[in-house]
Amino acid sequence: MCVGCRERADASSLLRVVAVDGRAVPDPARRLPGRGAHLHPTTQCLERAERTRALPRALRVAGTLDTSALHEEIEGSGARTPPAPAGSERNR
Ligand SMILES: [Zn+2]
Repeated sequence: MCVGCRERADASSLLRVVAVDGRAVPDPARRLPGRGAHLHPTTQCLERAERTRALPRALRVAGTLDTSALHEEIEGSGARTPPAPAGSERNR
């Protein structure tokens, strides 16, 4: 189910989203561990999910999630930045 429009859809047509360090990151390869939410890869559904706070609720995150990576993934389809694998973040 899409957390934006709450319509049932096939998982292959939805973008998997996971929470990493307070950020909602896209997981198109469906390889990141942890709880995932599914969203139509459209600005409409992303904005609706933000308005209804569906993402933090679906991902069981207290507070808000930074969704800028999702905007980049969905709106800037040319420049895709793969999400960093969990646990591999470097300091500096
Ligand atoms: Zn949707």
